[in-house]
Amino acid sequence: MSEQAEHVTCLIIGSGPAGYTAAIYAARADLKPVLYTGMVPGGQLTETTEVDNFPGYPKGITGPELMEDLKAQAERFGTQVRFGMATKADLNATPKRIWVDDTIEITADTVIISTGASAKWLGLPNETRLRMNAGGVSACAVCDGFFYRGQDVAIVGAGDTAAEEATYLSKLCKKVYMIVRRSEMRASKAMQHRVKNTANIEILWDSETEDILGANAVEGVVVKNSKTGELRTLNVTGFFVAIGHKPNTDIFKGQLNMDELGYIDVVGGSSKTNIPGVFAVGDCADKTYRQAVTAAGSGCMGALDAERYLAASGVH
Ligand code: NDP
Repeated sequence: MSEQAEHVTCLIIGSGPAGYTAAIYAARADLKPVLYTGMVPGGQLTETTEVDNFPGYPKGITGPELMEDLKAQAERFGTQVRFGMATKADLNATPKRIWVDDTIEITADTVIISTGASAKWLGLPNETRLRMNAGGVSACAVCDGFFYRGQDVAIVGAGDTAAEEATYLSKLCKKVYMIVRRSEMRASKAMQHRVKNTANIEILWDSETEDILGANAVEGVVVKNSKTGELRTLNVTGFFVAIGHKPNTDIFKGQLNMDELGYIDVVGGSSKTNIPGVFAVGDCADKTYRQAVTAAGSGCMGALDAERYLAASGVH
């Protein structure tokens, strides 16, 4: 251990619903957690508008407000919330060592990783502009589909997420255009079958999104057929992007077991990683559900697992 390193019992990395919920539980168990927020304090929810599916808010709440509430609740029990980005880790050391912003070294008896995942975007200028203005561009159909009930929407992507979200949207929306860049889908056969057999989903094969129209909200999407060069404007009011997520786990590669996409492996029904005392919660370990409430639930599991680990090892 270096002389400058601060030692903590429980270090939480990441400030989404998983991280803050872990902090609430860890603080109440007197683990005196220190939480580093990462570069986007509050995580992905701070980039959304209304959150209508988090239990306990019958009238809905905005993403930023929800995250402020979770932060305040974590701080109320003594969590130290600090702005900073974990940039390096030695999780096999005893105690575990984490560097924040490349310079600050922290040692910890337990580490709860809640670094989340980032949605991938197409990168079109109008996609970014309308997304930032809450103008009808979203990466989460389950979160935002409700706002487009009875309307026509488009979704881009051809994996399991896109297929699942297109099916979800088809139940709410009048029509769903699915924009697929190749002449086949990556999604499982079962999911493809479901999409192809849903009457109000129209699949546009070999198609790329050229532009998204609308000054303040989506008014249409221009799609180009890459085989024929034909341009078509879809009259939609919602544009969903489902081209994959990237878990924010790069600094743990080579130490923690992960799948090929970088999602951290946890022992089924727990938050335990392959390294004792290191726990992974929320979207960094979940490519299936990715909801605020499931992330929060797994954050609770992380804190309870950390508490039990400390008790068993006689540290706390
Ligand atoms: P995937 O990486 O599997 O699929 C991404 C899709 O987006 C691909 O079809 C890809 O096209 C397309 N795509 C990527 N970039 C672009 C682009 N720039 N323009 C247009 N299209 C693009 O991501 P998913 O989120 O769908 O799934 C991630 C993992 O999670 C998978 O392993 C999946 O099986 C799993 N999953 C499982 C679920 C379940 O079991 N219920 C539900 C959801 C996900 P192309 O095919 O041409 O590369």
